[in-house]
Amino acid sequence: MTYIGRFAPSPTGLLHFGSLLAATASYLQARSQQGQWLLRIEDLDKPREPVGAADAIIQTLGLYGFEWDQTIVYQSQRIAAYTESLNSLKPFIYGCNCSRKQLQTRANQGDFGLIYPRICRDKYLALTPLTAIRIKTLDQSICFHDQIQGFYCQNLERELGDFVIRRADQIFAYQLAVVVDDAWQGITEIVRGSDLLDNTPRQIYLQQLLGYSTPSYAHIPIAINALGQKLSKQTLAPALTTQANKPLKHLVKALEFLGQNPANANSFSNLKEFWDWAIANWDLNKIPKQLAYDPLITT
Ligand code: GLU
Repeated sequence: MTYIGRFAPSPTGLLHFGSLLAATASYLQARSQQGQWLLRIEDLDKPREPVGAADAIIQTLGLYGFEWDQTIVYQSQRIAAYTESLNSLKPFIYGCNCSRKQLQTRANQGDFGLIYPRICRDKYLALTPLTAIRIKTLDQSICFHDQIQGFYCQNLERELGDFVIRRADQIFAYQLAVVVDDAWQGITEIVRGSDLLDNTPRQIYLQQLLGYSTPSYAHIPIAINALGQKLSKQTLAPALTTQANKPLKHLVKALEFLGQNPANANSFSNLKEFWDWAIANWDLNKIPKQLAYDPLITT
C-alpha cells in the first residue's frame, strides 16, 4: 500500500517552531517511505483567520524546502462533503441549543464537570441552522496504539460526553472535518502533535460510524515554552522567520528535538543537503515521548 501522509495546519497565525516540528516529522516519515505528503489548510474558522495567514504558511513551508504532492486542499471548500457526511451520521446526531453559559452553570454544579450532561439528547430539536449538532457517544473504550506515545484509550461517554460536530454558527468542528478529509485523501498515517492525542478516540469513533478505515498514528511530543505551555499563537510563540540561513538553522533544531541527532549538524550547507540527510537517516523510534525546552529554539 502506498504511504500517504499529510500536514494540516490551521491558519490561525504564522508558522512557529511547534508547527515546524509537526511538518518536519510528517514530511520525513512520508518521504523516508517514498510516500506522498499532502498539504491541507484547515481554514474552517474563517472569522478567526488573520488575513493572509494561509498564504504565509504555504510560503514559509516553501522557503523551508518542503515539497508537497497534489494540489493543496482547503477545508473551506469542502463544506458540501461535511454536510453530506451528516446524512450517514443521522441516527447518531441531534440538535443542541445549550448555551455556553448554561453548560458552565451545570459544570459548576459539579455533577458532570465538563462532560456534556446530555441536556438536549432527548429534546428532538429540529436541525435548524441555529442549533449546534452533537453526536451521541457510547460507554465503551476506544483504544489505539500510538507509535510514539504507546497504548491510549478513552471512554467517550464517561470522559467527554456527546460532542459537537457542527457549531451553532454553522462551522463544522475540526473532529468531523479532519475525519472526512483524511479518509477522502486516503491518508494512511497521521503524524502530528501530541496535543491532539486525546482527540484521536473521537476521530476513530467517527471513522467507525462513517465506515472509514483507521489510519495509523504517531503523536510527536509538543514543544513547550519557558512557562511549560504548548507553543501556539495563544502563548505567543514567535513566528518562524524566513531570513537567510534561518530555515536551515531551525530545521536542524527541529531534527535535534525529534531525537535524530545529526552528528554533522553544522555541516549542512544548504536545504537540499539537509533534507537528503534527514530523509535517509530518519528513524521514528528515536523520537522522545516528551520534549525539553530549549530557550534558543527560534532565535
Ligand atoms: N489543524 C490542526 C492544527 O493546526 C491539526 C490537525 C491534525 O493534524 O489533525 O492544530
